[in-house]
Amino acid sequence: MEQLKNKILAEGKVLSDTVLKVDSFLNHQIDPELMQEIGKEFAKRFEDAGITKILSIESSGIAPATMAGLYLGVPVIFARKRKSLTLTDDLYSANVYSFTKKETNEISVSKDFLKKDDVVFVIDDFLANGQAVHGLVDIIRQAEATLSGVGIVIEKGFQAGGAEIREQGIRVESLAIVDSLENGEVRFRDEEAGK
Ligand code: 5GP
Repeated sequence: MEQLKNKILAEGKVLSDTVLKVDSFLNHQIDPELMQEIGKEFAKRFEDAGITKILSIESSGIAPATMAGLYLGVPVIFARKRKSLTLTDDLYSANVYSFTKKETNEISVSKDFLKKDDVVFVIDDFLANGQAVHGLVDIIRQAEATLSGVGIVIEKGFQAGGAEIREQGIRVESLAIVDSLENGEVRFRDEEAGK
């Protein structure tokens, strides 16, 4: 998605060979117009998939997931990282190791919002080693719901997650695939060029 890639080039900060900071439009401050276009693009790619729910994870998946939910006309659930007082019983849970925070979080979703007959679209901000997506897919399996696919705003193609998830036969659509962050420079995957 050209608009997203231009934004990454203009505002993204390469923190190391593996970490890209996009705090000005996705991870701290949010660009609503860009999120709207992202939501539209996800909806276009999955419009025929019969989706009934979107599942994301707090906090940075919520904005793109909500916009996709708006265009697909379906509710958006986000997995919680901490059990709040109001989220006490009847939960699906999975453990997720965070690539950026180097800690394991237990993520939870209330059984009230995910049912056997749901067709679920997973959306997250980044795909690195795939831990967050694995946790969300695990929760969908616990609910015995159907996974329609995974939508990612920025995939880091040089980390293992994307290949591993696709090898399982899961459809993964990433709006920008970064193939290298070496020498402080963002390089996108060729096949994405011009999209
Ligand atoms: P994974 O679970 O695929 O290893 O990592 C995905 C999660 O880690 C995302 O939800 C995102 O919050 C965070 N993440 C991974 N890599 C990056 C990165 O390069 N930049 C930022 N801002 N977040 C990242």
